[in-house]
Amino acid sequence: MPVDYHIHTRMCGHAVGEMEEYVEAAIKKGLREIGFADHIPMYFFPLEKRDPSIAMREEELSYYMERVREIQKKYYPYPIKFGIEADYTPGMEGELVAILEKYDFDYVLGSIHYLEGWGFDNSRYKDGYDRWDLYELYELYFTTLGRAAKSGLFDILAHPDLIKKFGFKPAKDIIPLYEKTVKIIAGSGVCVEINTAGLRVPAGEIYPSPGFLEICRGYGVPVSLGSDAHKPDQVGCNFTEAINLLKAVGYREVATFTGKKKKFLGI
Ligand SMILES: [Zn+2]
Ligand SMILES: [Zn+2]
Repeated sequence: MPVDYHIHTRMCGHAVGEMEEYVEAAIKKGLREIGFADHIPMYFFPLEKRDPSIAMREEELSYYMERVREIQKKYYPYPIKFGIEADYTPGMEGELVAILEKYDFDYVLGSIHYLEGWGFDNSRYKDGYDRWDLYELYELYFTTLGRAAKSGLFDILAHPDLIKKFGFKPAKDIIPLYEKTVKIIAGSGVCVEINTAGLRVPAGEIYPSPGFLEICRGYGVPVSLGSDAHKPDQVGCNFTEAINLLKAVGYREVATFTGKKKKFLGI
C-alpha cells in the first residue's frame, strides 16, 4: 500500500477518533506514508454562516498544526505529512492565499464542496439538485474544477467528480466535458486524487470515474491516493480496488509531497 493523503481529524467536527488511532490503523494496513488533510476553516462564508460541524475555526488552525507536529515526532521515522483540504471559491483566491501562506503545508488538496454557496455534497441540502438541469450543473462543477486547477493554489485536486456523490447524472454524454477539464488540469501540473469515499456513498464508485481517469492517463496527469477517512477504520479503505483501477488504466506510481515538492512512489 503506498500512501493515504486524505485523512481528517475530529477537529473538523464530523470525524471521530484520536489522531494516534488513524496512524496506527495506517501502520497496521501497511501504508508506507500518510497525510492528515483536515478541512480548512470556512473562509468563504461570513462568520455567522461558518458551521463548526463542517470545519474548524480559523483560530484553531495553529493547534491543528501543533497536533500534526506532535504526532510526527511521536511516530518518527514513520512519514506523516501535514496537509489541508482547502475549498476553492472563485473570486476568493486572495482570502485563501492569506490562510495558506501562514503554514508550511506539505501539500494542499483543492476541493469543491459548494457551488454558488450551495453545499451540494451535504445530504441536508440534497433537495437542491431539483433546481438544476443536471448537465448545466455538471458544466458549472467542471468549469469550477478547471479554474481551481489553473489557480495554481493546489497540489492535488480532491475527489475530482464529487458532483456525482448522490448518483445524479445527466442523460447527455459528459465525456467531452471531462476531456475539456482534464486538458486544463494537465496544463496546470496539478495532481488528481483517486478517492475511495465514492464507494461509501450512493454514487457507489471511486472518484473520479474510470472514464475521467483514462483521460487523465492519456494527458499524463499525475495521481494521488486518499480514503477521505473520517473514522480510523476508514484509513486505506478499498485501496486494493483503487490500485487495481490505477493499474488497469496504466498508472505505475502515485505522487507524494514534502514541503510542496513532488516525488513518486511505485504502486
Ligand atoms: Zn469531512
Ligand atoms: Zn472533501
